Amino acid sequence: MNVSGVVVDLDGTVYRGDEPIAGAVDAIARLRDRGLGVLFVTNNPTRSSEAYVERLAAFGVDATTEEVLPAGEVTAQFLADRHAEDDVFCIGSSGLREQLHDHGVVPVTDPDDADVAVTSHTYGFDYEALTEGLWALDAADRFYGTDPDLTYPDSDGRRYPGSGAITRAVAGVAQREPDRVLGKPSDVMVELACERLHCRPEETLVVGDGLDTDIAFGARAGMWTALVLSGRTSRADADGASPEPDHVVESLSDVLDLL
Ligand SMILES: [Mg+2]
Repeated sequence: MNVSGVVVDLDGTVYRGDEPIAGAVDAIARLRDRGLGVLFVTNNPTRSSEAYVERLAAFGVDATTEEVLPAGEVTAQFLADRHAEDDVFCIGSSGLREQLHDHGVVPVTDPDDADVAVTSHTYGFDYEALTEGLWALDAADRFYGTDPDLTYPDSDGRRYPGSGAITRAVAGVAQREPDRVLGKPSDVMVELACERLHCRPEETLVVGDGLDTDIAFGARAGMWTALVLSGRTSRADADGASPEPDHVVESLSDVLDLL
């Protein structure tokens, strides 16, 4: 395995909730010492790259905004690139809206005006939001989700409904599937990750705890993949998984031995 860049998932790989995973901070420093590019990716669409830089700094990991790629940033960049002239209606968090604003995307408030509908995690999802989502899909040409995650683990260790749950609720009532779901494992995320790392896929290793996100992302891109067991996937889950990870290791610090 000849690798010059590493895509590193955050939750379940670098930290769990508010606790860094043993050895992870040191492992990141050692990857960099070996001259490898590191890009942190996450399907959490509610926090900006800047917020992740601060969060990583709190764990003792230095990173620039260029080295962090959250699903909200991917969504904002995608909309700015492909739908600059279109009216976007968004069901999502204030954190996502800020990221859209930063890319010059100002969502409309009337769902009937939507050319594009975007659905994402928000604590404010209720009957009114579902109705607006239905009406936005009656009007919109395009329908996107920020990321596919049905649930996410919070710091209390319990699972909570994520963007995928809200996207499916809106898709369900409108009986219309999203045209794209961004974040991992989408091809949009793959493209942006390769751009940021300046690496070809075959020289890139993806490390993460999610089979359907991280490993699927790497497999789709033709990257090497390493599943860590420090997060939401057990060795039993990994056995016979499709796509199968190239490597299964206990945690990020074991990745050094693979290189
Ligand atoms: Mg993860």
